[in-house]
Amino acid sequence: MAIDNNIVFLNGEFGPMSEAKISPMDRGFLFGDGIYEVVPSYNGQLVGFGLHIERMQNGLNAIGIKLDMDLDDWRDIAIKLLEKNSIANLGLYFHVSRGADVKRFHAYPEDIQPTVFAYTFEIPAAPKADKQSVKQYRVTSTEDLRWKRCQIKSTSLLGNVMHFQQGHDAGVQETILYNQRNELTEASACNVFIVKNGTVITPPLDNQLLPGITRHMLLDILRKEGSLQVEERVISMSEVRSADELWLTSSSKEIAPVVELDGKPVGTGQVGDIWQLAQTFYSAHKHNY
Ligand code: PLP
Repeated sequence: MAIDNNIVFLNGEFGPMSEAKISPMDRGFLFGDGIYEVVPSYNGQLVGFGLHIERMQNGLNAIGIKLDMDLDDWRDIAIKLLEKNSIANLGLYFHVSRGADVKRFHAYPEDIQPTVFAYTFEIPAAPKADKQSVKQYRVTSTEDLRWKRCQIKSTSLLGNVMHFQQGHDAGVQETILYNQRNELTEASACNVFIVKNGTVITPPLDNQLLPGITRHMLLDILRKEGSLQVEERVISMSEVRSADELWLTSSSKEIAPVVELDGKPVGTGQVGDIWQLAQTFYSAHKHNY
């Protein structure tokens, strides 16, 4: 999308990306002091919109940013952006920073207006539950060196960026992370699932990982559908390395099959049958959220 064709939202106004300007004193710029969301939309249909906005509000509450906007206000911005940018499949990016102060001082300032930014970017068509055409992921793994509040979808993403870069430098597409006890946390920009003997397993929610909307929806869909055993529990890295299947989940990827971890095949090294089933169920039900 050319920069001037891309209509964005900034602090109440819609306009071309090239004209959207923020202050260099914005605390989002200076401190990464903000919260963000990414919501996928396919042919104008938003996926999990209410869940994404609820998570963003939880993040704003957690870091004490007061913003007088509700679900309908966000939906209004989303719908207008989808109309103005009229491309079939768009990701919506929402970003709220604490706002611009007159000085650089760590404490939260009183009485500054949060900066609210939203824009759209083109995304591939919705993933299909097709073993032949699905993108197969290769990943590396490393100790999770991020902070202890990974449940907050903070715009301070340097830890995630550096971990992603480790994988990128190694020529793979993601980096899977584990804590000091050798337990799986998540990946630099995705949640992680394993499959063992037909059971779908993912780490429980705590401060070590983002409460992914795709993770939430997938667990809910699988539990309601009922044909697969599902567990949320601590997973050791040795279990990850001996898993039959390994998946990444995120709003843009949905359920992405991983066929190689640290240069070794995952399971048979092929996209698995349980992945196909799970992606089939996910594709069928994701618009109910
Ligand atoms: N974990 C991290 C660190 C992420 O950045 C993301 C998505 O950006 C996810 C997990 C997946 O979250 P969601 O399914 O809400 O996109």
